[in-house]
Amino acid sequence: MAASPYKHLYNTKRWYRLRHYQLTDTPLCAMCSRLDKVTPATVADHIKPHRGDEVLFFDPKNLQSLCKPCHDGAKQQLEKSGTLRGCDVAGLPLDANHHWNRL
Ligand SMILES: [Zn+2]
Repeated sequence: MAASPYKHLYNTKRWYRLRHYQLTDTPLCAMCSRLDKVTPATVADHIKPHRGDEVLFFDPKNLQSLCKPCHDGAKQQLEKSGTLRGCDVAGLPLDANHHWNRL
């Protein structure tokens, strides 16, 4: 997060509070739980990349709790390629934007 170009957004009390509420409300990693793994979340991640958009940035509904490996791995890949590879335990695509998940 230190090298983020959106430091001014992360360095706000509003973000600290939002992040705290997110991790208190959902203390487990969302991606791991879809794979039936229980991992404590440490990152409040933006589901839709905010790219500096304050509305998306501060939208509590645009947040999910992730553990660091999930955030750094799958998520970065998703942002680069636009899709998330792999399936959850039910055989459904992990990618929230996959048409199967848009019901
Ligand atoms: Zn995880």
